[in-house]
Amino acid sequence: MALPTTMKAAVLFGEGDLRLVDDYPVPRPAAGEVLIRVAACAICGSDPKILAHGWPNHPPYGQFIFGHEYTGLVAALGEGVTSFEVGDRVCVEPHKGCGICDNCRDGYYTTCLNYGDRAKGHRHYGFSTNGGYAEYACNHVNSVYKVPKAIPLDEATLLTTAATSLYGIRRIGGIQAGETVVVFGPGAIGLMGVLLARLMGAGIIILTGTRSSRLELGWEMGADVTINVRDEDPVQRIFDLTDGIGADAILECSGTTQAAVDAVGCCKKNGRIALVGIYGQPAPLDVNKVVQWNITVAGSKAEGERSMAQAIALLNQHQVDLSPLVTHTFPLDRIQEAFETAEKRLGGALKVVVNP
Ligand SMILES: [Zn+2]
Ligand SMILES: [Zn+2]
Repeated sequence: MALPTTMKAAVLFGEGDLRLVDDYPVPRPAAGEVLIRVAACAICGSDPKILAHGWPNHPPYGQFIFGHEYTGLVAALGEGVTSFEVGDRVCVEPHKGCGICDNCRDGYYTTCLNYGDRAKGHRHYGFSTNGGYAEYACNHVNSVYKVPKAIPLDEATLLTTAATSLYGIRRIGGIQAGETVVVFGPGAIGLMGVLLARLMGAGIIILTGTRSSRLELGWEMGADVTINVRDEDPVQRIFDLTDGIGADAILECSGTTQAAVDAVGCCKKNGRIALVGIYGQPAPLDVNKVVQWNITVAGSKAEGERSMAQAIALLNQHQVDLSPLVTHTFPLDRIQEAFETAEKRLGGALKVVVNP
């Protein structure tokens, strides 16, 4: 089937200036890339910030298509692509490292030393290069994964989220069976963290947050205890729940400085903390406790070290139903409404998906 030459796309023309166009040129896959007919692109917490302020090294306004949690069908193959076929159902990860720097060679491509340098092969889809709020997108095969048959493409947008949660878990050496796990922040990444911790054999899983509807969803994802931090001190409660010992493994996904402080506060001797949230300001952590209690604190940038492949395998093997997390879907024509729904969390919005 011949590909069209133009497509519908939501294009950023300036700060806060998102416009729908129907004559955007359909990109052509370069060597090593596939062209994806986008089926679904989920709104991430970082997207409203990109809409409002752009992103360092973003494509020029008037050409910039963002959105980085997308799925679809392979529509065409670039030169040399042998690992995919036209028609494959796929999902993507936003980071494609340069492939040649020390970090990329070690698998840490989310912290590529040539970030934003297109000439050196770096891509950050939906950030420094175009992404998925359009009918078509091109991705290098290193950033593309096949979606198992059992996972619908709307829900498969959450595989990118799952990979971020899993990378946090991997950054602290995984979760051992029976361990007490605390997840701060019941957003999509935190809830997915709860789910993955459950699949990995965690003992007690404690989820903290401020919104009771989100905490309730946490129960569905596998949390044993939820703590509303508006009502009680999470550190005290976690020590009470663990006979005064503290938590083995902690995922801080809220991005609030207080939760980062509390993560150190509730950590057990020799425990591990992954910081996954995005913080607006420095946090006053008790670093002496970190030293004296032999605590590991790991930053976790996005979904490195092919965590997406592992996240897909785990969720597929356990036939997890991701549908409770996708609360709203909108056609591309109504993307403004989709953003409003996601940002204001209208109707209890969690993951809002746009269908180009
Ligand atoms: Zn994201
Ligand atoms: Zn690199």
